[in-house]
Amino acid sequence: MELIKDAQYLSKLGLDIPETATTLLRQEEQIRQTSVNLHELLNEIKQAYAAIPRDMYQLLKPHREKVEEALRPGFVAITWSSLTIDECMLNLFISPISLFFVLDINNVRQELEQLRILVNDCTDILQCRIENALQTIADTQLCEPQQDPITLDEFSKLTDESCQHAINSITKQTLLCEKAVHYLLEILKKRLKPHEQAQIKETDAEYYDCALKSTMNTKGHVARCNECQPCAFFNYLTIYWNKNIDAIVQCTRSSLETIRKRLQQPIRYVGEQVIREQVRNPLFRTDIVLSIPNVLVKPSLDDMQSQLNKSANTMLKIGQDIPEWFHAQKLKEIMIKVRKIKEY
Ligand SMILES: [Zn+2]
Repeated sequence: MELIKDAQYLSKLGLDIPETATTLLRQEEQIRQTSVNLHELLNEIKQAYAAIPRDMYQLLKPHREKVEEALRPGFVAITWSSLTIDECMLNLFISPISLFFVLDINNVRQELEQLRILVNDCTDILQCRIENALQTIADTQLCEPQQDPITLDEFSKLTDESCQHAINSITKQTLLCEKAVHYLLEILKKRLKPHEQAQIKETDAEYYDCALKSTMNTKGHVARCNECQPCAFFNYLTIYWNKNIDAIVQCTRSSLETIRKRLQQPIRYVGEQVIREQVRNPLFRTDIVLSIPNVLVKPSLDDMQSQLNKSANTMLKIGQDIPEWFHAQKLKEIMIKVRKIKEY
């Protein structure tokens, strides 16, 4: 477009312009349309990149690069200051549509479409399987207090039962989440070039070893560069294992919070006036026993406190009964190796 503007100015000034520039001016409309199409294409690429989930950006690097590779001939050939400007001019001279041949726009569109499909597939797995499982874990209640007050024994039984039920449900969701993350990584791996696929190893001896370790990694295979694909795979597994743990912590925290709220009556003070908002039923049923000269509460406050502590401990320990991901076990092994390296 700069070239056309220059030719227009020269023409308006009444100066002689080369034949090539005259041809350009004649084909101005077509060139303008080509420019619009190119801008549209670049915008589409921008939108496709924006749709990539943040955690997956590095994982999709080789797939983004395929689009960029398809674009590269265009960047090299169609540059005002490029060394191949003559070639560009020649193409323009033949026909402005030849811009598309230089760029191989069909190839770019094909690669872009492939990227879009891949991002859509991955986003579906991420939202429908992985995040759904994590949300189910976070929403699991370890103890759901009954509407009516119950005895200490009933509360203890209820907590044990609901914790056991929650452990089974969280175990199932954890396994589903792990499976879905591996499935997603498998899809991405299958779309890589054969030599890139060969770099990603999940064996015991070479568990996602960094592909750049010879040049970048000085601490053995422990540090992660996040530049190569094995590291991107490894880091993605670590991120989602940590999210799995966070979901379990959130489940425990919200269950304890539910009990705390049930034990506390919401009271508001306005001046000297006490306003009770929506009185909640007590959690425990107690008896008042007359034992002359005293009046006793049975079970005692200490018994209630001790039962609450016991139930809270049961809830806090549920994580121990939930199986770890295979990746978590490998992470532990790696940590042990790091410690040993540091000791030497
Ligand atoms: Zn690496």
